[in-house]
Amino acid sequence: METKILNTDDAALAEAGQILRDGGLVAFPTETVYGLGADAYNADAVRSIYTAKGRPSDNPLIVHIADIAGLSGLTREISEGARALINAFMPGPFTIILKKSRTVPDAVTAGMDTVAIRFPENETAQRLIKSAGVPIAAPSANLSGKPSPTTAEHVKNDMTGRIAAIIDGGACEVGVESTIVDASRSVPMLLRPGGITFEMIQSVVPESELDPNILRSLGEDEKPLCPGMKYKHYAPDAEVTVIEGDMRAVKREIEKRLGDNKNRRCGVLTMSDNAYDSAVIIHCGDTNREYAKNLFASLREFDRLGVETVFAEFENRDGYGLAIRNRLYKAAAQRVVRV
Ligand code: AMP
Ligand code: MG
Repeated sequence: METKILNTDDAALAEAGQILRDGGLVAFPTETVYGLGADAYNADAVRSIYTAKGRPSDNPLIVHIADIAGLSGLTREISEGARALINAFMPGPFTIILKKSRTVPDAVTAGMDTVAIRFPENETAQRLIKSAGVPIAAPSANLSGKPSPTTAEHVKNDMTGRIAAIIDGGACEVGVESTIVDASRSVPMLLRPGGITFEMIQSVVPESELDPNILRSLGEDEKPLCPGMKYKHYAPDAEVTVIEGDMRAVKREIEKRLGDNKNRRCGVLTMSDNAYDSAVIIHCGDTNREYAKNLFASLREFDRLGVETVFAEFENRDGYGLAIRNRLYKAAAQRVVRV
């Protein structure tokens, strides 16, 4: 299949909208990561997303809308708490899970009775959804198991020849996937941390809960974590080890490890002005927010540079830290050292 690269002008988005209405797949920018979209009401088109990504089809997709009114056709029930979250965080890097209406195909929800809905803030994403005239079901536009794409270049690397078109809208602002909150239950629960922090969710619905699996996978009560226990996900080819803590202690630990790994091509992902000899350095950002924005691109860049072992500096500085640790620890297959 030939994959067209489209820009963001009106003619290009009209063409992309037509491709979607015809059952084709279009990758598009959002403020979080690039999405791989299909007409949410076309079950065959939705199924082809799984083939293009090489992703198991028991993993539900997020349905993207371009205005609040778009919610009503997709869901049959919106609680008071859900309504407050919608008013506070839509449009934005936020996905809400609600009871689905009968019209949403099982291919979108993996047969579940709930549907995940997002109203992206990104202007190109909004214009594309309006141009298609239908809600767009989309996961991230990477091959299954690879880090999510935050530039059109990343999507080209993974998806060329597999989908009809890629819209190049530049780099994504947030850089990690949306915050997901399940508001189909009586008390909202945060299932995936992202650009909307748990503190922000709680400021709107104070009784909101955090999925205990998120903290469990962060090993809050063990140190250091057992290596390699969890499945690999969002993972680069390089072996990643997270060195977490105060930046001076982090520097000492990484220097020691670089000394122990002289025979391998090493890289360091930094969030400080620490300098390291004999390693490929990528500065990921000085704040948690910048770190989230640059994380996936940095992991892909280490692979491109042929780095075999990456030591990632990390310090948990604010509410954004939860989203980073959730992704970073998976990239590291839970190899985390706290110093
Ligand atoms: P992504 O991982 O960014 O490709 O987006 C899809 C993710 O949204 C899935 O992996 C699920 O974690 C989540 N998701 C979508 N729909 C539902 C749902 N109905 N219930 C729970 N999680 C969902
Ligand atoms: Mg994904």
